[in-house]
Amino acid sequence: MSKSKSSPRNNEFVEECPSCESRTPHDVSIEIKTESRKRENREFSREPYRVAQCTRCGDTRSQRMNDA
Ligand SMILES: [Zn+2]
Repeated sequence: MSKSKSSPRNNEFVEECPSCESRTPHDVSIEIKTESRKRENREFSREPYRVAQCTRCGDTRSQRMNDA
C-alpha cells in the first residue's frame, strides 16, 4: 500500500450535492438490493446500488450502478 493516509475517513468522496448546491464530502457505500419481484430476469435480480450520503445536510441518494 503506497497510498497516503491523509483522508480522515475511508469512504469519503467529494461530490456535487443538489441540496447544498455545492461540492461536499459524502459517505459512500455499496448496497445490494434484491429485486425479487422481477421473476423474468432472475440473474439480474440483485442490483448493486451506490449510496452516497452528504455529510453536511444528510441527504442520501442511491444510484443503480448498472445504469448506463
Ligand atoms: Zn448536502
